[in-house]
Amino acid sequence: MDGLEEPLEENVPMFDAHAHLNRENFGQELEDVIERAKRVGIVAIVAVTESPREAESILLLSKEEPMVKPSIGLHPELASRWELEETLQLIRQHRDELVSIGEVGLDYWIAKEEEERELQKRALKSQVELAQELGLPLNVHSRSAGRQTISLLKEMGAKRVLLHAFDGKASVALSAVEAGYFFSIPPSVVRSPQKQKLVKALPMERILLESDAPALAPVAGERNEPANLLVACKEVARIKGMAWQEVAKITTENALKFFGVDL
Ligand SMILES: [Zn+2]
Repeated sequence: MDGLEEPLEENVPMFDAHAHLNRENFGQELEDVIERAKRVGIVAIVAVTESPREAESILLLSKEEPMVKPSIGLHPELASRWELEETLQLIRQHRDELVSIGEVGLDYWIAKEEEERELQKRALKSQVELAQELGLPLNVHSRSAGRQTISLLKEMGAKRVLLHAFDGKASVALSAVEAGYFFSIPPSVVRSPQKQKLVKALPMERILLESDAPALAPVAGERNEPANLLVACKEVARIKGMAWQEVAKITTENALKFFGVDL
């Protein structure tokens, strides 16, 4: 027993738009985790990073594993640390290896004080400006700050935006759809009425799939991994009344277009 599942009879290529593949999340199992992702049909995983240190290790991993697509950003939780300049510099240096800038965004659940929120906004704005300068899309986190995140991005004229694991109201999400933004849906959609409502409201042409591994597993508290993308795919299919293979196909096409990736 190596813990690997048998390949499914019918694999449809799937694209994981947001995962945290750092070694510290998976230890020695990282290679098995990637192997299991391949076995369910995942053809690409956008490996987002939260700090310059994480970015360096994901850049190395992507050289060994071409299906791992690196994304560099300073996470809002770390916005108060003095790593913004270093992050911006790394993004410039590795521009041609990157598929997006992220994970960036606003987290007002973490930042309760106005001063911290201003630091988060400052970090986000600098990274949005750089995304525009370099022609890269944004991989965006927002927690208890959906409306504020969307309006800041719109004010700045950001065009290529993926809102990952969006926790806001469907009506707020629709204002982002109007601006041309995309949403990625994690496996936790099976246990989240808010995310189910979101999927119902969003047009299929703006939906991508993500694992957000190791977070947002189908079962609360369990360690998540990219192979669970299939769970998200099947739940989106159920809500939309479509075959899961069709959801896999459309979301993969959306992701390839959004990130500008050729497989
Ligand atoms: Zn994340």
